Amino acid sequence: MAAPGDWQSSASAAMLFPNKRAYAGLRRAALLLGRESTQADQTTSKCRLDTLNGWALFYNRRSSMKRVKICRLGCFNHRLNFAEIAKWRSRYFRITDMSLRADITVDHFENNYVYPTCNIAADMGEVEPGTNLVIAVVDQPLEENFYMRRIDANRAVVSVFPVLDILAKANIPIENYIIRCIYEMVVFVYEGQGRVDDEIYMIPHHETRGCLFDMNVFIDRIVYSCSPPTICTECKARLRARPLPTGFIEGIERELRRIRKPLYYRIEENIKRHPVVALFAASALAVLLNVAASVIYDRLKAIAQPSAAPLPSAPHAGPSEGAR
Ligand SMILES: [Zn+2]
Repeated sequence: MAAPGDWQSSASAAMLFPNKRAYAGLRRAALLLGRESTQADQTTSKCRLDTLNGWALFYNRRSSMKRVKICRLGCFNHRLNFAEIAKWRSRYFRITDMSLRADITVDHFENNYVYPTCNIAADMGEVEPGTNLVIAVVDQPLEENFYMRRIDANRAVVSVFPVLDILAKANIPIENYIIRCIYEMVVFVYEGQGRVDDEIYMIPHHETRGCLFDMNVFIDRIVYSCSPPTICTECKARLRARPLPTGFIEGIERELRRIRKPLYYRIEENIKRHPVVALFAASALAVLLNVAASVIYDRLKAIAQPSAAPLPSAPHAGPSEGAR
């Protein structure tokens, strides 16, 4: 628990509040509570200061989040639940806006029809002040068969076209793939502070490790980093060398574990992976259900029996009593 003086003397307090006005207001409140604490109940003041510190941490966490805008480009001829993507909660980014541009132009390029990279930047528009990252989502093939491509320091495009069938076959929701790509770009923004240089293109590794930074040269390997993605040892070592927030890697890993298949498919997957265990578990469950059904039956029978039982009859009168 923080002492009343901690708030006033702590050098890190100013760092907790990048917004100077908010910091000054809460510092005044802290000073007031500090004065009260010399006269009145110390415990109450400490609790209040703890609350203020809690607010400060919450405020700091929220203000340091990266602001991400999703830009839907063109028509989507399949079910892609953008509302679910918008609802995703993270400590490191928040989706602040979701725009739509329905008309895009697909051109003939290198014996294929693709959405040209030169059109993407214009269709996405400029990055608005206060936005850290704009991610365009399209349902058209990109040049050179990329599934994700950086446009500049703060813009990237993700195509669902090359992965639709692959993900459907693996029972992975397409939303997982979009969220996975958002995480990859968000980590780049944290890591590179918005810079784009040659190094950033060297980060993804060719080997498929189920890592967030898999290059997925063979696109069908994308399934390994969509349910759930991980961060491999090599990428962790790289991130540890960067000036990232405390506990960043562990926090991102925790959130990545939430990118997974629906419950039904996870159960199905576990059954396929451990068929013998699943067989014993199913047998045990059947026995338990049988026992539970017997107990319920006995209880119901006990409840119903008193009303069904015949009422106790009067003592039988003997012939001698009847003669009286
Ligand atoms: Zn990796």
